[in-house]
Amino acid sequence: MGAERPLRFAIIGAGMSGILSAIKLQEAGFDDLTIYEKADRLGGTWRENTYPGISCDVPSHLYSYSFEPNPEWSHRFSPGGEIQTYFEGVAKRHGVEGRVRRGEEVTRCAFERGRWRLETKSGRRDEADAVIAATGVLHHPKLPDIPGLDRFEGALFHSARWDHGVRLDGRRIGIIGTGSTAVQITSALVDRVAKLSLFQRTAQWIMPQENPAFGEAEKAGFRQHPETMRRLHGELARMFSVFSNAIVDASSPQMKLIEDTCRANLESSVRDPVLREKLRPNYRAACKRLIMSPDFYQAIQKPSAELVTEGIECVVPGGVRTRDGRLVEIDVLVLATGFRVDRFVRPMLVIGHAGLELDERWSQRPDAYLSISVPGFPNFFMLNGPNGPVGNFSLIEVAELQMAYILQLVELLRSGRCREISPSEEATRRFEVERTEAARNTIWATGCRSWYLDDRGIPAVWPWTFDRFREEMARPKLEAWTQAG
Ligand SMILES: Cc1cc2nc3c(=O)[nH]c(=O)nc-3n(C[C@H](O)[C@H](O)[C@H](O)COP(=O)(O)OP(=O)(O)OC[C@H]3O[C@@H](n4cnc5c(N)ncnc54)[C@H](O)[C@@H]3O)c2cc1C
Repeated sequence: MGAERPLRFAIIGAGMSGILSAIKLQEAGFDDLTIYEKADRLGGTWRENTYPGISCDVPSHLYSYSFEPNPEWSHRFSPGGEIQTYFEGVAKRHGVEGRVRRGEEVTRCAFERGRWRLETKSGRRDEADAVIAATGVLHHPKLPDIPGLDRFEGALFHSARWDHGVRLDGRRIGIIGTGSTAVQITSALVDRVAKLSLFQRTAQWIMPQENPAFGEAEKAGFRQHPETMRRLHGELARMFSVFSNAIVDASSPQMKLIEDTCRANLESSVRDPVLREKLRPNYRAACKRLIMSPDFYQAIQKPSAELVTEGIECVVPGGVRTRDGRLVEIDVLVLATGFRVDRFVRPMLVIGHAGLELDERWSQRPDAYLSISVPGFPNFFMLNGPNGPVGNFSLIEVAELQMAYILQLVELLRSGRCREISPSEEATRRFEVERTEAARNTIWATGCRSWYLDDRGIPAVWPWTFDRFREEMARPKLEAWTQAG
């Protein structure tokens, strides 16, 4: 292969996806690559989210790179700090760490004269033949629009910006939101604080999930026989495939099983009938992201906990006033209100062919062929981009499949088959039409409000089975791709 074209890559973001892409590019023999990371540390989500009780909600032996099983996971769902250590360790072992330019936010990325020209906030410039945008999906905190937030006199922060300088023990804590994060914080804090008030706008279905620790003997077994971890990874992936196949078919028997389990959990765990009804969602299980918890219902029934279902009128200097005029006094107010999930690579300015701005193309809502690439933006690939699979399963597996797909496209650039590759407008349009059509039959479209829904109320996700995603990622259909040069 003497005629191979040398390629330079810029990877944007050093979270799980950015680390993965660097490892996979290196394995494929590419040596000329730089990762730009705006923070001073790798890790993305797991660097930023350090709230009490944080853990993954996909089993740790599945929420691991397939090529880097980890015998040291302490729990079935391990704490966030361990996950951060894991990603940093993997990056180090694979020689990725040294390729990261920390504290460098890419602000502009323009395709000019056949190459991507990058600029960072600090003024650094770079050029690359291809860009991998691994900028994250649950990354930009969403702040609620509640009057008076700026007048609150206690400590106030978003769950992804936890202020560890603030004392929690013996104090009155308010949590706004009832997603996975709020549930994890509630369970972690309820025994430490004087009072925990959980402000619920929407009740959530809770899937009971025990979280046992791995014993020393089990870990030693994993260390001695790594193949058992690979087997476990495979088994868990199959189990989660069943789950993810179920949620795209709202009338499937598996979906009914999930709903029955959640309902039985509520009925059997919450004693007080009034509280039970307050905690009962009025929509189908898994319509919003399903919450896994071994002990949330126990936590919310403790004397120090209160579920506040009256709507919030405003925040006042001493706490939160609800619509019935009551003041809930609070020392520390946590906004567990999630993320702006339609941001993706933004606010970075991305300019493709003929001066086309990505922000302009996405002014209504983001789109991408197979969630990976956008027409008119050659050699620009995204991991965990728009409308991808984001149900209750491992986004690591998603990123690995996407990266394997991207590498096949990159091979066309390396072999000289073309100098530029991007999806055709026609293929992208057809994909989007089929995707939105199929999304209407999924559980996410059965009548709840959730972050899965776009501005039209259509689930902005991969609406087919995970098996279909795997098949689609196995080999690019080249007729959908425009090759030039
Ligand atoms: C609390 C929480 C729990 C979660 N639990 C799970 C789970 O159990 N299972 C699961 O599969 N997923 C889970 N997720 C989703 C999680 O985000 C993904 O699994 C994964 O960590 C995403 O990795 P990423 O690299 O794609 O994005 P991120 O981790 O968001 O990393 C993106 C990186 O890009 C950097 N960046 C962004 N823009 C720029 C720029 N312009 N220039 C330079 N750098 C930039 C950011 O600083 C960041 O480091 C969870 C998310 C949250 C918030």
